[in-house]
Amino acid sequence: MTSPGTAPQPAPEPDRPDRSNRSTEPPEPAGGEPACLLALVCAECGALAEQAPPTRCRRCGAPVGRD
Ligand SMILES: [Zn+2]
Repeated sequence: MTSPGTAPQPAPEPDRPDRSNRSTEPPEPAGGEPACLLALVCAECGALAEQAPPTRCRRCGAPVGRD
């Protein structure tokens, strides 16, 4: 039951880049503290620690939050 040619075709969307989404930085959570989140990231494996630093990575055991 197909009748090609009778259905109106939707207008093609213009291919324009979204300039508002070109930021290379990840979106920061509203009301959060990105600085603290960075301190929670394990330098060895990149996992996020569950506890506030200084602590140890629950994945690889490396110290987190220490310089
Ligand atoms: Zn780790």
